[in-house]
Amino acid sequence: MNPISLPASLSYLPAFYGSETLYSLVCRFHFLSGHLYSTDTSLLLFADRVAGFRTDFPGNLQRFSKATGELLGDAPKLSRERTVWGFYRPFVSETMQVHIEAQMQGVLKRDLGHSLGIMPSRVSFPHLLKACKKCMRRDIQNYGVAIWRVEHQWPSSWICERHGSVLQYVPLRVKRVRAQKWVLPEDVQKDEWSAFRLAQSAKHKLRMLFKLSSAICKSSHGHFSSGALRVCYLIGVQRRGWMAPDGSIRFSTLRKAFYEYYRELAKLPGFDIVLGAQLEHGGMLGVLMRQYPGTRHPLKHLLLIAFLFESPELFFASYAEAFWQLQQNDCDVRLVGKEIGGAWKDALRYLVESEKLSVSAAAKNLRIPLSQAVRQAHKDKLSFAARPRVLNTEGTRAIQELAPKGMSYSEMSLRLGIKASSIRRYMASNTDVRELWKLAGKLER
Ligand SMILES: [Zn+2]
Repeated sequence: MNPISLPASLSYLPAFYGSETLYSLVCRFHFLSGHLYSTDTSLLLFADRVAGFRTDFPGNLQRFSKATGELLGDAPKLSRERTVWGFYRPFVSETMQVHIEAQMQGVLKRDLGHSLGIMPSRVSFPHLLKACKKCMRRDIQNYGVAIWRVEHQWPSSWICERHGSVLQYVPLRVKRVRAQKWVLPEDVQKDEWSAFRLAQSAKHKLRMLFKLSSAICKSSHGHFSSGALRVCYLIGVQRRGWMAPDGSIRFSTLRKAFYEYYRELAKLPGFDIVLGAQLEHGGMLGVLMRQYPGTRHPLKHLLLIAFLFESPELFFASYAEAFWQLQQNDCDVRLVGKEIGGAWKDALRYLVESEKLSVSAAAKNLRIPLSQAVRQAHKDKLSFAARPRVLNTEGTRAIQELAPKGMSYSEMSLRLGIKASSIRRYMASNTDVRELWKLAGKLER
């Protein structure tokens, strides 16, 4: 085989299209270069017969960036932006990040499965090649060729954010036959693609998961601390009402809710980890919520985060709060957990004293039993008086005072501890108060 001179071959070097993967770009280079054998391209660019064919974590990136005169970026940039490594990186410790990047660069011996927490995680990850049909059509219009996109290859991605369509994938048996070949989406035959049929609700959950994965990959977070993540999950659990007042987690309720939420996604590759939530130890939930050392697969974290927090912004805010709380408590997760568990006491004081809620309305708001709230209110010497559930003179006076403020019936009900239906009935038969209330509502609008 004749050695291929670098400068001449470089003239065929294409630039990246959009969020194209490194493997996809090398596929295009291979076709442009006119190399007869697939391995010639891998040898030329990666100085190795197989390093370039890995569609998930290509190796020898240092050789690649050198061979391409760093025209496409240096090795760390390539690994973070053009491979699935960017998806894993935020969930890996800083030391491990250096270790893994060195493996991808070809400086250290490869042991990615263990380093990334893939092997011990029991998440089976064949890293299937995935693509969106509509994106393929659009790419052909725009670039003349369909490409593989980084964000579609993330293990959490099964839906195209741009088109809302379910991603189609190349099954492993097809992928194996094409191993050590440069294959672009348009080279896969129509009958070789597979796709899952998913209900609307499943698509919605996957869209949330994608939004979260994307926000995390793009965020400036170098990496998440595993301690702060655990505290952040405790904050989420507490807000969703799955924490008992003593700070312990209502684990079986949490397990059931998690399983119910995700079970329709369990058929997707790698997502079968959610089934463990049915078991008493909670499977991945038990692992993430309790203190076990080791790196966890990002998909586990993402599934829990998307379940506990309504938006990426809410997660980031809770993580920042968790990080701060951990710093205040000598990095002791147990101590912070207790504090989070006891947070309802401060909330009760605030609702009763400042917001003037009845103790029963506050208990309802905080999702704690009334008897417990009353006990605490006595203990804290909160000034509260028993409020009527039905309307008496005191209740009607209170409504008359609040009506001109234009508050909604449910707000008044919460504040006064009187049923909303009683307030509605009172208003119906007291038109003068009702007129004042209506007027105030209009002014507010
Ligand atoms: Zn698409």
